[in-house]
Amino acid sequence: MSHPYQHAISSAHRHGGKPEDYLALHDWFDASKEFLTDFRHRALRHHAQGIFEAERVFGSTLTNSDGKKIPTRLLGEQHVREDCGRIPSLADWLSTIRAQRWMFSAVRLETPLTAATGAAE
Ligand SMILES: [Zn+2]
Repeated sequence: MSHPYQHAISSAHRHGGKPEDYLALHDWFDASKEFLTDFRHRALRHHAQGIFEAERVFGSTLTNSDGKKIPTRLLGEQHVREDCGRIPSLADWLSTIRAQRWMFSAVRLETPLTAATGAAE
Protein backbone atom coordinates (compact mmCIF):
# COMPACT_ATOMS: atom_id res chain seq x y z
CA MET A 1 0.00 0.00 0.00
CA SER A 2 1.24 3.46 -0.69
CA HIS A 3 -1.25 5.94 0.72
CA PRO A 4 -2.87 6.22 4.17
CA TYR A 5 -6.29 6.40 2.55
CA GLN A 6 -5.79 2.94 1.03
CA HIS A 7 -5.08 1.62 4.53
CA ALA A 8 -8.22 3.42 5.77
CA ILE A 9 -10.33 1.77 3.06
CA SER A 10 -8.93 -1.58 4.13
CA SER A 11 -9.79 -0.85 7.78
CA ALA A 12 -13.38 0.10 6.87
CA HIS A 13 -13.70 -3.07 4.81
CA ARG A 14 -12.52 -5.20 7.75
CA HIS A 15 -14.24 -3.41 10.64
CA GLY A 16 -17.12 -1.34 9.21
CA GLY A 17 -17.64 2.39 9.35
CA LYS A 18 -16.11 4.79 6.83
CA PRO A 19 -12.49 5.15 5.70
CA GLU A 20 -12.44 8.61 7.30
CA ASP A 21 -12.94 6.93 10.70
CA TYR A 22 -9.45 5.48 10.42
CA LEU A 23 -7.57 8.08 8.39
CA ALA A 24 -5.96 9.98 11.30
CA LEU A 25 -4.37 6.76 12.60
CA HIS A 26 -3.01 5.75 9.18
CA ASP A 27 -1.84 9.32 8.51
CA TRP A 28 0.10 9.14 11.80
CA PHE A 29 1.90 5.97 10.71
CA ASP A 30 2.96 7.53 7.41
CA ALA A 31 3.71 11.05 8.70
CA SER A 32 7.43 10.26 8.44
CA LYS A 33 7.09 10.62 4.65
CA GLU A 34 7.40 14.34 5.38
CA PHE A 35 11.16 13.96 5.78
CA LEU A 36 11.98 10.83 3.75
CA THR A 37 9.78 9.87 0.81
CA ASP A 38 11.04 6.35 0.12
CA PHE A 39 10.32 3.16 2.08
CA ARG A 40 12.92 4.01 4.74
CA HIS A 41 10.47 6.43 6.34
CA ARG A 42 8.82 3.32 7.79
CA ALA A 43 11.71 2.82 10.22
CA LEU A 44 10.17 5.49 12.49
CA ARG A 45 6.79 3.81 13.23
CA HIS A 46 6.32 0.63 11.19
CA HIS A 47 7.32 -1.86 13.90
CA ALA A 48 6.04 -3.33 17.17
CA GLN A 49 7.08 -0.32 19.27
CA GLY A 50 5.39 2.02 16.77
CA ILE A 51 2.15 0.07 17.12
CA PHE A 52 2.27 0.48 20.91
CA GLU A 53 3.09 4.18 20.47
CA ALA A 54 -0.03 4.54 18.29
CA GLU A 55 -2.04 3.05 21.14
CA ARG A 56 -0.63 5.69 23.51
CA VAL A 57 -1.45 8.48 21.04
CA PHE A 58 -4.93 7.32 19.95
CA GLY A 59 -6.08 5.35 22.99
CA SER A 60 -6.81 1.64 23.35
CA THR A 61 -9.74 1.65 20.96
CA LEU A 62 -11.06 3.70 18.07
CA THR A 63 -14.85 4.06 17.75
CA ASN A 64 -15.94 4.05 14.13
CA SER A 65 -19.06 5.73 12.68
CA ASP A 66 -21.01 2.48 13.15
CA GLY A 67 -20.39 2.84 16.89
CA LYS A 68 -18.09 -0.19 16.95
CA LYS A 69 -14.94 -0.07 19.07
CA ILE A 70 -11.83 -1.36 17.28
CA PRO A 71 -8.58 -2.02 19.17
CA THR A 72 -6.01 0.54 18.02
CA ARG A 73 -3.28 -2.06 18.18
CA LEU A 74 -5.19 -4.25 15.72
CA LEU A 75 -5.41 -1.35 13.25
CA GLY A 76 -1.70 -0.62 13.68
CA GLU A 77 -0.85 -4.25 13.04
CA GLN A 78 -2.97 -4.13 9.87
CA HIS A 79 -1.11 -1.03 8.61
CA VAL A 80 2.36 -2.46 9.27
CA ARG A 81 1.50 -5.87 7.79
CA GLU A 82 0.07 -4.26 4.66
CA ASP A 83 3.29 -2.27 4.17
CA CYS A 84 5.95 -4.68 5.41
CA GLY A 85 4.34 -8.11 5.09
CA ARG A 86 5.00 -8.76 8.79
CA ILE A 87 5.51 -6.85 12.02
CA PRO A 88 9.22 -6.18 12.45
CA SER A 89 10.74 -5.10 15.74
CA LEU A 90 12.45 -1.74 16.11
CA ALA A 91 15.69 -3.73 16.43
CA ASP A 92 15.07 -5.19 12.96
CA TRP A 93 15.13 -1.67 11.51
CA LEU A 94 17.99 -0.32 13.64
CA SER A 95 20.23 -3.30 12.95
CA THR A 96 20.30 -2.30 9.27
CA ILE A 97 22.05 1.00 10.01
CA ARG A 98 25.62 1.04 8.71
CA ALA A 99 28.03 2.56 11.17
CA GLN A 100 29.39 6.01 10.39
CA ARG A 101 32.26 7.58 12.32
CA TRP A 102 30.14 10.47 13.61
CA MET A 103 27.79 7.98 15.31
CA PHE A 104 30.38 6.85 17.84
CA SER A 105 33.19 9.40 17.87
CA ALA A 106 33.48 11.46 21.00
CA VAL A 107 34.32 15.09 20.36
CA ARG A 108 36.91 16.70 22.59
CA LEU A 109 36.00 20.31 23.19
CA GLU A 110 38.90 22.75 22.95
CA THR A 111 37.14 25.19 25.27
CA PRO A 112 35.26 23.81 28.30
CA LEU A 113 31.62 24.80 28.77
CA THR A 114 30.58 26.61 31.93
CA ALA A 115 28.26 24.65 34.21
CA ALA A 116 25.80 27.49 34.71
CA THR A 117 25.16 28.63 31.14
CA GLY A 118 26.59 26.01 28.84
CA ALA A 119 28.44 28.86 27.12
CA ALA A 120 32.14 28.65 26.36
CA GLU A 121 34.39 30.38 28.90
ZN1 LIG B 1 2.70 2.97 6.04
